[in-house]
Amino acid sequence: MSIHCSPIVCIVGGAVAGSEAAHRLAQRGVRSVVLEMEAVPWGKIELGLPKWHAKQRDKEEAAIDEKLRSPYVTYVPSTKLGRDVSLEELLGWGFSAILLAAGAWRDRPLPVSGVDAYENKGLIYQNPFVAQFNQYHSPDYDGPAFEVQDDAIIVGGGLASLDVVKILMLETTARALRQRGLTADLLVLEKKGIPKVLQQLGLSWEELGLKGCTLYYRRRAQDMPLIPMDENVTPEKLQKAKTVREKLLSNFLAKYLFHFEPCCMPVRELVEGNRLAGLVFQRTEVREGRAVALPDTEFEVRSPQIISSIGSLPEPVPGIELKWELFRIPDPNTGKLEGYDNVFALGNSVTGTGNIRASRLHARMVTEWILDSFLLRPENVSQTSNDEAQVERILERASELQTRAGYDGDYDRWIERHQPVRLESMESSSL
Ligand SMILES: Cc1cc2nc3c(=O)[nH]c(=O)nc-3n(C[C@H](O)[C@H](O)[C@H](O)COP(=O)(O)OP(=O)(O)OC[C@H]3O[C@@H](n4cnc5c(N)ncnc54)[C@H](O)[C@@H]3O)c2cc1C
Repeated sequence: MSIHCSPIVCIVGGAVAGSEAAHRLAQRGVRSVVLEMEAVPWGKIELGLPKWHAKQRDKEEAAIDEKLRSPYVTYVPSTKLGRDVSLEELLGWGFSAILLAAGAWRDRPLPVSGVDAYENKGLIYQNPFVAQFNQYHSPDYDGPAFEVQDDAIIVGGGLASLDVVKILMLETTARALRQRGLTADLLVLEKKGIPKVLQQLGLSWEELGLKGCTLYYRRRAQDMPLIPMDENVTPEKLQKAKTVREKLLSNFLAKYLFHFEPCCMPVRELVEGNRLAGLVFQRTEVREGRAVALPDTEFEVRSPQIISSIGSLPEPVPGIELKWELFRIPDPNTGKLEGYDNVFALGNSVTGTGNIRASRLHARMVTEWILDSFLLRPENVSQTSNDEAQVERILERASELQTRAGYDGDYDRWIERHQPVRLESMESSSL
């Protein structure tokens, strides 16, 4: 009797990177079980990319759905690694490989000693802030509620921090317009920009009485990581990139009316009662690409709301040791985790950059490597394949998790049932 051997892979996280891995595996006839902590598998496309990018969001989500709909993929929604199932258990199930595509959902801590004690007491981190912004218009929303404040401080400098700035400016402007009895359509404000909308209403910015928020960045406008940059960039291209970055920022400033303070880094908190009431900043100078703090240049800034947007890190997975808050991966091209024979990481959790294409390309590269150099390599096949009975047992366990989540295996029906309410589909996108 011949025993049918085939690998079966577990993928944790079903979004851009996870679905791309599942798709690449399926194309080569390899099955996967995709564990996704949310009901819908769209990750930061749904909860990161701000909701005004509706067209791009819909396109990316449709691409993820297409990949997960495959008969080679067993989708297990509402199941979180570390909460509903442990890494140890998954290792015990006998998968040929485990792929961590869980993204980067932990905000890099603001480097001000003791400041985290004031989280949600004056201090907010970017990831929950943007996720709330993307969802709160829905009548079903029951997550955290952050009330945006005028005159906020944003510590950041990357693209995501510009989105945070935009959210604050759009929300505070919309609120000020509503207080004057005027309709404030968020999507129109975002598209046209604040000055144009005010002009159409016959109002000036000064009349609204808003101060606007301020983005504090440790380097200069020309250093902002606003466009992807090749490591081996030529001096000419670098010079061009600097000009583009300055132009991009000045367009943003003109359209959304916030303030920008370059060359300063937060060094201490200002506390009033039990709330964070501001930050002490120190001036910096950029020397050979590094922001160097300048002595005797400290200054205080008070603000009702401080938002930290300085990057995202993978959330720790119980059982996996981190190094400098990142997975220990000696070679990012293979994604292989140090200390494991068959655990790999891919996508945003490794790239660190908030970029859809970078996540997808990394997932593709790692999965191809896993297929060619690990799973299907002739000398490995006897170890990386499972016999039919093993595959059956794994699928039975996956099916138990599906049942626990209330999922009956009909992907399209499930997605339809869990489709979020879209701002643009509401009668008006006024807030
Ligand atoms: C504010 C903001 C704006 C952005 N704007 C852009 C932009 O304009 N252009 C661009 O290219 N990119 C942008 N990005 C970045 C882009 O959205 C991400 O880089 C990309 O979507 C990441 O894809 P991913 O699959 O690697 O990770 P994620 O999207 O984070 O997917 C990880 C998946 O794993 C799931 N998961 C996490 N932990 C577990 C667990 N323990 N168990 C099971 N499942 C788990 C999550 O629910 C999620 O579905 C933006 C990001 C932010 C935050």
